[in-house]
Amino acid sequence: MKSNFGDKVSFATFAQPEQAEAGDDEKPAKASGEEFVFKFLPRDIKAHLDRFVIKQDEAKKVLSIAVCDHYNHVNYLRHLESEDAVRAEETEYAKQNVILVGPTGVGKTYLIKHIAELIKVPFVKADATKFSETGYVGGDVEDLVRELVQKADGDVALAQFGIIYIDEVDKLASATNMVGRDVSGRGVQTTLLKLMEETEVPLRSANDLQGQLQAAFEFQKRGKAKRETISTRHILFVVSGAFERLKTQVARRLAQGQIGFQSEPLKVLDNDVFKHVGTQDFIEYGFEPEFIGRLPVRVVCEELTADDLYKIMKYSEGSILRQYERAFRAYGIEISFEDEALLLIANAAALEKTGARGLLTVWEKLFRDYKYYLAGSGLSQLRVTEELVREPQRVLERLMAEGQQHEKVALMQEARAFADRFSNEHGVELQFDDSALRQLVERAEAERMKMSDLCAHLFKDFQFGLSLIKKNTGKNQFLLDATAVEAPDKFLSELVLQSYGPGERPAK
Ligand code: ADP
Repeated sequence: MKSNFGDKVSFATFAQPEQAEAGDDEKPAKASGEEFVFKFLPRDIKAHLDRFVIKQDEAKKVLSIAVCDHYNHVNYLRHLESEDAVRAEETEYAKQNVILVGPTGVGKTYLIKHIAELIKVPFVKADATKFSETGYVGGDVEDLVRELVQKADGDVALAQFGIIYIDEVDKLASATNMVGRDVSGRGVQTTLLKLMEETEVPLRSANDLQGQLQAAFEFQKRGKAKRETISTRHILFVVSGAFERLKTQVARRLAQGQIGFQSEPLKVLDNDVFKHVGTQDFIEYGFEPEFIGRLPVRVVCEELTADDLYKIMKYSEGSILRQYERAFRAYGIEISFEDEALLLIANAAALEKTGARGLLTVWEKLFRDYKYYLAGSGLSQLRVTEELVREPQRVLERLMAEGQQHEKVALMQEARAFADRFSNEHGVELQFDDSALRQLVERAEAERMKMSDLCAHLFKDFQFGLSLIKKNTGKNQFLLDATAVEAPDKFLSELVLQSYGPGERPAK
């Protein structure tokens, strides 16, 4: 190090490796990889997915099987490795990497995320388009593997069983070659292919100077290098894309083969149509045969209809509806929904043509003002009706007026409660008339004070004053009006004065 950087480099001031090392020592078990156990059946995984993902039954089934096959094989190999390393090395296996075909927002990522959560492996997602843009193809693709390690909290062994999900791979097929640099889709396909086959990825990127320094430091300190690479042998790859042109390709072929079949592009690519899609179609689409060959499991995530979107809101455990229930509850408002309203929202979301993402857009737009104006308005119930969805502005105005009314009523009750408490504690009967109540509510609202605090402040001398009057005159009931609220001291002193007979008023 010193020969490269000169005497100015001082290792003693390089504090970070110390911390990293302490962290490593706290989790010695993590490096063993023995923690990861897989014991699920395809139907267990499907049942878990059913709780969150609506529709996509074929995809759920196919993914559940692929995942079980993959991790069962991993189990088998790990077992074999401990008994007969050579045989384990020689065992042939075609990894069950997956292509998920389908438009945006229909649950592709959501499926993988929930699978990874259930089986407790790290999961990373990236867009294939990112790789072609950067111009630094190999480095970026390998970053995905390193990201798995981060997601696994530095547990390299666990990261090796992770899932890497790459979206928009269909864009790799159509990307064009740029002169001088290999950033074409095909270039990325080749790099990805290497990763999907089996390769060792360095834990520290060549670009990461700090990481390199750290490694050198650790080596110097411990005299041995820590494990420096991560193998992609057991990493499961899932790629996805809309593959728009597949529809035309299949329609054309079907038209050639089957008399009477229309040659117009198909409207939707569902699993029935997808049965007719083969490896050749993907090659025609613009993929390397080797690349497609490494992705043997293929399934479609179908488009979501308005009815599916309704079911997502109503039945998915991850429904946006729960999120809004929580958001409104935080403002003290219980929100509830009529089915007719949800159907209208589903229809509006379907028009967005972004799958379930359309729901987010519609909800955000619909409820933005509701959150803003109803939070702290005194309203405690919000019923989402058909009318609310059709005319959100008008209903909001009405609710705000109602909310204000609620707040007024609540404040009046608090004022009456103050009078009752006062009467009980001081042995005189205190009451506010309507004008006093209105005045009190107005002031509490204007000054944003709690009613009990406001009354305690305004009528602090009344206990003494009214007791005096009671002593002088025997009068036991006092009705306070608006003037008592406007100028309580004046009001009280006049009452006190009157309580003395004409000749017996105390000298001022
Ligand atoms: P993509 O298909 O583009 O990967 P996502 O899986 O990221 O779409 O979906 C976006 C969000 O929409 C998810 O986080 C989830 O909340 C919701 N969603 C999408 N599809 C479904 C579905 N089939 N069932 C339930 N929720 C869904």
